[in-house]
Amino acid sequence: MSISTYNTLVAWGLKPLPGTELICISGPCAAESEEQVMSIATSLKAQGISALRAGVWKPRTRPGSFEGMGATALPWLQRVRRELGMKVATEIATPAHAEAALETGLDILWIGARTTANPFAVQELAEALKGSCVPIFVKNPVNPDLNLWLGAIERMQRAGLTKVAAILRGFSTQHPGELRNDPAWSLAVDFRQKMPQIPLLCDPSHIAGRRDKILLLSQQAIDLDCDGLMVEVHPTPDAALSDARQQLSPTDFASLLAHLHPKEHEKAIENNLKLKALRTQIDELDHELLCTIAKRMETVQQISLLKQQDNMTALQSQRWNTILTQMRQEGSQLGLPPTLVEEIARLLHQQALEIQMRG
Ligand code: PEP
Ligand code: MN
Repeated sequence: MSISTYNTLVAWGLKPLPGTELICISGPCAAESEEQVMSIATSLKAQGISALRAGVWKPRTRPGSFEGMGATALPWLQRVRRELGMKVATEIATPAHAEAALETGLDILWIGARTTANPFAVQELAEALKGSCVPIFVKNPVNPDLNLWLGAIERMQRAGLTKVAAILRGFSTQHPGELRNDPAWSLAVDFRQKMPQIPLLCDPSHIAGRRDKILLLSQQAIDLDCDGLMVEVHPTPDAALSDARQQLSPTDFASLLAHLHPKEHEKAIENNLKLKALRTQIDELDHELLCTIAKRMETVQQISLLKQQDNMTALQSQRWNTILTQMRQEGSQLGLPPTLVEEIARLLHQQALEIQMRG
């Protein structure tokens, strides 16, 4: 039996939001000061969040903007871990970051979108992380290239890392609309199909680039069966040193949690049982369907013999018209879509003709 990707995250020690099956990693875009980190971690913990994110090294598109506090901020994350018992996560982009983060004992590391886009950098990170059992979350690359994303995950796996997850944070677009990045949900669906065992989170903050779209995007991610969210929250978002427009205040975040409809744990268990029962029913019905088709073909065989004895042609247009009309009528009485009924009738008739022509 395959284990669900949500359960995989739980097995790595991540705790869902109370009463739900939704993992939520939240915190500021960047760790700016010890006071800011402790303040936001304390209020997030009070809201049921058990994993804090905070960028220490910030990859900035243009030089000159705030590039993070660097290694100075690592002890602040250690303090959150020690005093609040939360898991702490940060972004790594170079082997030196990886080594410092592992040495500090951070619980979760992530690879940012700009780094995922560069296979050389990803390979170097994979080498640096070899032998560790830290969970590593790989954000999608900035460009909508599914293989580049899959490739980065494979590089981690080939280095022997077993706890690898993915984060959808949207893709750069030449024509940005209301959102900073295009969520490209269909690409996330393709990702799921290619790597069904890899947990997938969504980062609505970097998709949105603005506060007012985060609820909508989070709910869409949940409805697409993402296992969790990574949301940027800052004690005073307007004064944030990076990504100010997209960070939520603790109050905004409380309102987000209050309005979300995640999968509820008890309901999920109950529905799972119901689903199992319904799937058994479907299997039985499919079996009956196939037996009926086999019986129909045997009957066609008998008709074929009779027609041969009487030198009748295989195709009897009149009879075929009658069958089609009857099936259309019955189908409509049963509420079946006419196109489905016609398609089935045609397939069965075609098969019957082939049997009779073979003789
Ligand atoms: C971040 O998480 O703050 C960040 C820089 O994200 P991304 O790599 O998705 O742009
Ligand atoms: Mn950010």
